[in-house]
Amino acid sequence: MLSVEQAEAIILEKVQPLDTARDTEVIDLLEAMGRILATPVTSQLDFPHWDNSAMDGYAVRYADVQGCSAEKPAILAIVDEIPAGYQPQHTIQSGQAARILTGAMMPAGADTVVMQEVTRREGDRIFIHSAPEPQAFVRHQGAFYKAGEPLLPAGIALGATEIAVLASAQCNQLSVYRRPRVAIISTGDELVTPDQALQPGKLVDSNQYALAVLVAQSGGIPEMLGIVPDEPEALKSTIAKAVASADMVISSGGVSVGDYDYVDAILASLGAEIHIRAIAIKPGKPLTFATFSQSGEIFSSPPSPITHALYFGLPGNPVSSLVTFWRFVQPALKKLAGLSQFWGPNFVQARSHQELRSDGKRESYVWGKLQLVDGLYEFDLAGGSHSSGNLINLAQTNGLAVLPVDVKFIRPGEMVKVLQVGSPLLN
Ligand code: AMP
Ligand code: MG
Repeated sequence: MLSVEQAEAIILEKVQPLDTARDTEVIDLLEAMGRILATPVTSQLDFPHWDNSAMDGYAVRYADVQGCSAEKPAILAIVDEIPAGYQPQHTIQSGQAARILTGAMMPAGADTVVMQEVTRREGDRIFIHSAPEPQAFVRHQGAFYKAGEPLLPAGIALGATEIAVLASAQCNQLSVYRRPRVAIISTGDELVTPDQALQPGKLVDSNQYALAVLVAQSGGIPEMLGIVPDEPEALKSTIAKAVASADMVISSGGVSVGDYDYVDAILASLGAEIHIRAIAIKPGKPLTFATFSQSGEIFSSPPSPITHALYFGLPGNPVSSLVTFWRFVQPALKKLAGLSQFWGPNFVQARSHQELRSDGKRESYVWGKLQLVDGLYEFDLAGGSHSSGNLINLAQTNGLAVLPVDVKFIRPGEMVKVLQVGSPLLN
């Protein structure tokens, strides 16, 4: 059976980012949050746009104030008042100064700002008691960024700081990758939707809802295709439809070796190349990863802009399907979405508060709460059952501690590798 690392390598090798030419759209800056830049941005503006003052004070010629002191102040004539937002009207000559406020444009002729705290004003004259360094408190045009240099590279996610930079550069429209379309299918005769009556023997489909949230959080557009019963024909037609219209299809259930587990056979009959059928991970062993390529008949009718698709058949158990999403699907989806880096899983080292156990046979993931305490991560194992069928105690957790193959115990107080998961709002 494939190890977790081997499976991860196979998956990521098959995932190619969306196409920089075909798979992009132009959006307004206001819609940019969380989107991924498809084209590098360059600005024709310098930052700062012009020399300006970093202080409230007086713009002077350094030669006029050099060597001045409290006993021998430099005395200059104030010829202009320059608040922020105004263009200076005078060129500062020798013996002159301009009152200047923070952020205001430096007047021609002046090269230095004297802070107001070391001055005394008398009418139209300013007494300067202490000389600053030459060019002090001047933010020079182009010191932070020169027009024409690369401003932001393609492949980055846009958050507050990037959007602030784009706004400053007056980049009102930008080219971003379209969001990948991700079809989600729940399989199983036992499943009902949350609003259907729960007859004996039935189970509510929770995977569809969890996966839709995770897809959206990872930059995709979830397309919830609902519940499909364990009937090969129904399953085949739903999968065929999903593959033809989505960049990625995620099904849950039906990938085990049970009598009603049809997914692999259906994928094969539809021309998929199956790369993975099982991974040595707990929970989550039965996991199918397949790809559909352009040559497959599935894309010819109906005509579709999508020419290949990734297929993840996740195990049905609610915890198994979430753990395998976090470990394998999320990085794949982020890479597909166009992120050029930081799409990999986020592992941290944490001190475990409790003993963690595994049978040592497969790489095991147990869930709990990860917290930063005085700069060090601590991990608190969720109470209750760590069965892959127990979804309940997964709520309000944000970390999966990893016990590698052959490790049967992590003792309280020992360090453990933890995969960060869940919503940032929970941390
Ligand atoms: P399967 O992988 O199809 O054998 O499913 C394993 C178990 O996972 C089933 O017996 C159900 O208890 C559970 N399960 C399957 N699909 C879902 C789902 N969509 N939501 C919640 N539980 C599910
Ligand atoms: Mg099933």
